[in-house]
Amino acid sequence: MPLSQLSPTQKRKPRPKEGNTYDLIILGSGIAGLAAARLAEKDNKSVLVVDKGRRLGGRVSTRRKNGFLFNHGAQFVTAKGNEFAALLADARKAGILKDWRIDPAKTVQIGTQSMSDLPQFMARGLEIRQQIEVTRIAHIGPNIGFFSDAGLIACGRQAIVSAPAPQTAHMLANIYPDLAATAELAKYDPCWTIMLGLEADIEPFGQSQDQFFPIRNEAAGISLAVPEPLRFVYQPDLIPPTPSALTIQASGKWSQQYRDEDRQTVIAQLCTIWEKISGQPLPTILDASAHRWLYAKVTEVANENTPPYSDDKKMAIAGDWLRGPRVEQAFDSGTAAYRTLC
Ligand SMILES: Cc1cc2nc3c(=O)[nH]c(=O)nc-3n(C[C@H](O)[C@H](O)[C@H](O)COP(=O)(O)OP(=O)(O)OC[C@H]3O[C@@H](n4cnc5c(N)ncnc54)[C@H](O)[C@@H]3O)c2cc1C
Repeated sequence: MPLSQLSPTQKRKPRPKEGNTYDLIILGSGIAGLAAARLAEKDNKSVLVVDKGRRLGGRVSTRRKNGFLFNHGAQFVTAKGNEFAALLADARKAGILKDWRIDPAKTVQIGTQSMSDLPQFMARGLEIRQQIEVTRIAHIGPNIGFFSDAGLIACGRQAIVSAPAPQTAHMLANIYPDLAATAELAKYDPCWTIMLGLEADIEPFGQSQDQFFPIRNEAAGISLAVPEPLRFVYQPDLIPPTPSALTIQASGKWSQQYRDEDRQTVIAQLCTIWEKISGQPLPTILDASAHRWLYAKVTEVANENTPPYSDDKKMAIAGDWLRGPRVEQAFDSGTAAYRTLC
């Protein structure tokens, strides 16, 4: 009987790994890697996801610091295709996502508490090892071995690498040079993000509370500046999990220009721009930090005419850099990578 016709209680357990060998190993617990892993798990394959970050989700990320919460990676998600829309619908049903009016004309979806709610939802039931940096990938007999500096992590009969393009290119240069060459074609803008913990809330500037939207002013250097409590403005019954936090993300052009600037200068500059646009001084800053996303938003995707998998059908590549600069495109690349292999 096909799996899809089995009820959840009838579903077989995933095939156990044999020793340290999995059916599939995935490098990267970002949205692309998680999308592929979910399909493998549905097909009852033994699958391991390995990621060097402290938390899963890659660039869909939330940072907590000194009592403040900052969504410092992707700010929201939108769905154009059916498969990602179905995932978002499931997440909404589970109370993970909600609507957010980002400007008078646009409603998007965000995590009910934070953006990292979505990758955590996608990761349910998966075997994921965080804080392990893969430093080498090599053939071991018919399998593919993933290594850290401490030695062999595990082997996969097949594998997917979903790191940002430059890291994928570096990792696959020796073992699958064609895939590495494809990865070298992608280009990104960096994104400077500053996170400010404030003494008081930011008041709506020249607007009423229900017409208070984040600043989006690429020409001035800010792609999005979100007072984090604004994500809860239509839910007065819900207490924001963060006191007055402000996350400011610089535009791609500004981030390129200030790419190698020190953090203090970046913080000072972006605060000045924010005050100029909003026309009001920032409340007292209790905590300030900056994060530079070196590979933030894809500006040129890798050549779509090159197959994103190896001739021996053991290795596939995935990531937003194969499709476009949004979370949905990372998701689509992950599902496509899995389907080309399996
Ligand atoms: C500041 C910012 C704002 C954004 N805003 C939006 C938005 O509002 N809406 C939207 O749709 N998109 C937005 N994006 C884009 C979106 O976040 C990405 O397109 C998407 O999350 C990419 O997913 P991914 O799985 O392809 O890559 P990633 O999320 O980058 O995942 C790759 C993973 O690989 C891991 N990795 C890399 N090298 C190794 C290694 N050697 N060993 C182990 N692990 C490794 C990394 O730790 C990472 O977790 C934004 C991005 C940024 C940076």
